[in-house]
Order: sequence, then structure tokens, then C-alpha cells
Amino acid sequence: EKSLVGQRALVTGGNSGIGAAIALALAEAGARVAINYLSNVEEAQALVAEIQASGGEAITIQADVSQEDQVIAMFQQVIETWGSLDILVANAGIQQYAPFVDMTLAQWDSVMAVNLTGQFLCAREAVKEFLRRGVVPELSCATGKIVCTSSVHDIIPWAGHVNYAASKGGLLMFMKSLAQEVAHMKIRVNAVSPGAIRTPINRSAWETPEMEENLLKLIPYERIGDPADVAQAVVWLASDASDYVVGATLYIDGGMTLY
Ligand code: NAD
Repeated sequence: EKSLVGQRALVTGGNSGIGAAIALALAEAGARVAINYLSNVEEAQALVAEIQASGGEAITIQADVSQEDQVIAMFQQVIETWGSLDILVANAGIQQYAPFVDMTLAQWDSVMAVNLTGQFLCAREAVKEFLRRGVVPELSCATGKIVCTSSVHDIIPWAGHVNYAASKGGLLMFMKSLAQEVAHMKIRVNAVSPGAIRTPINRSAWETPEMEENLLKLIPYERIGDPADVAQAVVWLASDASDYVVGATLYIDGGMTLY
């Protein structure tokens, strides 16, 4: 039984890594999926083709999630295409490494702009649409769902990445406050917090076998995660099976945050 039949989903940063796995998993669960990308249109189009090849429905939408006008236009495009939206997966995120005193204001600002402001802008447009459509009385479950991709660095400090850790820590409290504010309108907001997942964002973390070994020492389950590990949790948080889960953070990290 597919859990998301009839649902319309938007995944930001959906062309790569964890977002791409989420887009595929949502489609596999029966949802129509809008794949937002910033610059790599070929990746996004390849995913649409893959989803269509297995009988699903998907579109691509170019937008920079840190730009208000582009975010508004992106939501308009989804709503024009499918009439409305049921699921937002706010996944786009970036890292900018710098030793603290070398960190430029631009490095600080760009991470905040994507990881925090981008989440705010996308969630606001999603909630606006959920409210415009209103609560559907015959449905007992939530009619609007938001899943944010956070990180284990929303609770684990990260030297050399104070901008990233601050953005994810901020995202966690943003997510919880929003969840509290909109729950009575039958909108559920939750987060997934991945640990070390093999994607382009962090390939430098296992450049050498030695680095990979050191990383594995931090993971009780002794394996690096796959994007699909995160995607399955997102499908569950977006489905009615998790209908009583509100403002939760699901750590998908092989036990990295157990201390
Ligand atoms: P990734 O680099 O493969 O994907 C990031 C995606 O975000 C890309 O598609 C990129 O184009 C997009 N993006 C960046 N800036 C954007 C913008 N301004 N507008 C729209 N899209 C933009 O890396 P990933 O690992 O798949 O990252 C996805 C999310 O997972 C991020 O939020 C990241 O912080 C989080 N995360 C990843 C890991 C990991 O180990 N890979 C761990 C914890 C959290």
C-alpha cells in the first residue's frame, strides 16, 4: 500500500544527494513531486525522467531558496501545475568551512541565507497555501506537512563550521516554534537530522581511508549513511502513519548523537 497517493510534494535542493533520494522515495510512495534545483538542471531532469519511467509524475523548478521573489514564484508554479501542495520538504542546504577568525561575513551570511532564511521563506509560502486551502473537515489527519532537513549539528558543535552549526541549531528552534504555532490548523512540522551521509556536500570527509576510519569511530553503528536512509524517514514524517508526530526531530545518524 503506497502511503502518499494523491499527495503533491515540493523538495528543495531536490536534484542532488539527500534531496534526490527524498524525491525518488516520495514518488515511489505515490506522491507527485516538484524537484527544486538551484543550478544543475540536468540532474533535476534526469530524476524527473526516472520518476516518469516508473509511472510517477514530477516536474523541475529552478529557484534560489534564499530569494523571496523566487520562492514565491516557485510555489505559484507548483500550485498552478497541481492545484495545491500537501508536502514541503525544505532540504536545500550548504556548508562553508573556515577557521573562525578567517570566516568572512559573506561565508557567514550565505550559510544563514540558504539554511535558515531559505527554510523560513519556503515554510511561509507552504503554510500560506495550506491555510488558503483550509482544513478539510472530512480528513482526520493533517492536511499540510513540512519536513525540514536539519543535521546532527543542530545539537553537536562543529569547529570550523560555526556558521553551519548556528544555522542548523537555529533551524531546530524555528521548526519547533512553527510546529507549535500551526499545529491547531492541522499542519504538522517536523525535522530529520542526518549524521554522516554519503553525498556531494561532504565528500571531503572521507577523502582518504584514514579519514573514513576516523569518521566511523564516531558512529556506533559503524557505517556511513546513505541518502535513502534519510529519505525513508521523510516519507514516514510526510505520511498519515506519523499523524501524532509534531515538532519532532528524527536523528538518522547511526547513533552519532548518543552520548
Ligand atoms: P548536496 O550538496 O548534495 O545537496 C544540497 C542541495 O541544496 C543541492 O541540490 C544544492 O543545489 C541545493 N541548494 C544549495 N543552495 C541552494 C539554494 N540557494 N537554493 C536552492 N537549492 C540550493 O548535499 P546533501 O548532503 O544532500 O544536503 C542536503 C541537506 O542535508 C542539507 O540541508 C544539508 O545541510 C543536510 N545534511 C547533510 C548531511 C550529510 O552528511 N550529507 C548531514 C546532515 C545534514
